[in-house]
Amino acid sequence: MSEQPLPPNTVPFDSLDLDAEQFRSMGYAVVDAIAAYYSTIRDRRIISESGSRHIAEVFEEKLPQSGQPAESLLQEWQERVLPHVTHLGSPRYFGFVNGSGTMMSVFAEALAASVNMNAGGWKAGPAATEIERRCIAWIAELIGYPTDCGGLFLGGGTLANFSALLTALRNTVPFDTTREGLQTDRRRQKLVLYMSDHEGHISIVKAADMLNLGREAIRRVPSGDDLRMDTRALEAMIHDDRQQGYLPFCVVAQVGSINVGVVDPLEDIARICRQEGLWFHADGACGAVGAMLPELAPLYRGLEKADSVTLDPHKWLYISYECGCLLVREPERLRRSFSISAPYLQGSLPTDYKGLDYFEYGPQMSRGFDALKVWMTLKHWGREGYQQLLRQNIQCARHLHQLVEASPDFEPLHRPALFIYSFRYFPAELRRQAPQQPLEEYLDQLNQRMADAITATGFAFILSSKVKGHIVIRLSICSHRTTLEDIEQVFARLHHLGRELHAEGEPGSRHLQS
Ligand SMILES: *Cc1c(COP(=O)(O)O)cnc(C)c1O
Repeated sequence: MSEQPLPPNTVPFDSLDLDAEQFRSMGYAVVDAIAAYYSTIRDRRIISESGSRHIAEVFEEKLPQSGQPAESLLQEWQERVLPHVTHLGSPRYFGFVNGSGTMMSVFAEALAASVNMNAGGWKAGPAATEIERRCIAWIAELIGYPTDCGGLFLGGGTLANFSALLTALRNTVPFDTTREGLQTDRRRQKLVLYMSDHEGHISIVKAADMLNLGREAIRRVPSGDDLRMDTRALEAMIHDDRQQGYLPFCVVAQVGSINVGVVDPLEDIARICRQEGLWFHADGACGAVGAMLPELAPLYRGLEKADSVTLDPHKWLYISYECGCLLVREPERLRRSFSISAPYLQGSLPTDYKGLDYFEYGPQMSRGFDALKVWMTLKHWGREGYQQLLRQNIQCARHLHQLVEASPDFEPLHRPALFIYSFRYFPAELRRQAPQQPLEEYLDQLNQRMADAITATGFAFILSSKVKGHIVIRLSICSHRTTLEDIEQVFARLHHLGRELHAEGEPGSRHLQS
């Protein structure tokens, strides 16, 4: 093939980098903008005032042809981006399980981008690799997991759960899944794994799907009144499945569950997994870090026996997005699951200048230097700082529970185990009615409208969920900025909204008004 001529170069070579003066000037302006943002974060409207159509229009523009001055981009950030942010860093943001973002993460992201190391391979990121290795050991130590474990940072809990399930498969099934995958003739049985019915997280379903095990490969184990996995039922299901010719390979325990923050009985699950030769995976995406609190030790007993643990620093360690993490008890099992080689990955003769290559331990090849934000925040706050913040969050959840219990118009549905709390509005005058379908439907609607209404005001961000069949108001309190006062204000507003909406009634449900 003949070489295509390039158009004549009419300008001298230029990297298009800013010069030092320009860089400083824009850099200071960016820092000023961020500092100003932080000083107003508590008082901001949490969701944008604009609707989704308007926000889409704001960003509708043609591919830039000739460039624009750097400073004008900061202006665009202020004028176009900031007004359409959902402020996860607000102390009254309680949606999903979203962390609040540490200030050290901001600096770490900038510093990491400045050197642009690729943490996929040691040669392209020696300090990044060693900092990540150190952070993995520190996190293990924090939660009482063996510090000689393997592990790495990943995009989030979903990717960590996916990597854990692949590792479980590779290391438990009696045939080689690396070469032939599931297409081997030696696979005679259908593979199944177990998690609890009520609180099992949807990311495990996604992971099973991505592994092509099929979503039905997940057996939902009944849970008790406390919404923790019933381990007798688990044992019975495993035996039953074996008799029916299935091949169980893994049990997933929730360590801090999504609606009510419970921890499954880890000690029992560990014992069953050992007896049955199954992989014990602990999905602690939101809750595993609670194990750093000595007063919660009984809850977490058995976590140290898990074959793998998922834990999201971007949730309850407040690190900025993205930052998920997987720990695997035996590093070699993780390597065996992901290792691959090619001449371009080797790239040099063996020398002393060579350490661990993270591409051998996870699904990604190129990887960011996410460890820096964990490293800097952990060093800034220390174990004690983190313990204080986690306790504050738990205290907020317990306080909210007390407010709910003390009010005749609210109904608690569980005690808060950690920082997630779900409850519902149930006006006192409606309690006199006998339980009936229309009442339940009305309460579902009412609670949904309350969550929507408070979020629409911009004062707080609250979503609904479903617990024991009821629509509930659910708060995930994992902001390092939330105070008891925030909780009291939010509760008072919810109460007020509940009264208002109930007084308005719902068309078709009028008969339910007192
Ligand atoms: C959030 C969460 C996940 C998924 O994590 P992402 O970081 O959102 O991918 C998995 N399991 C549990 C229990 C979670 O709370």
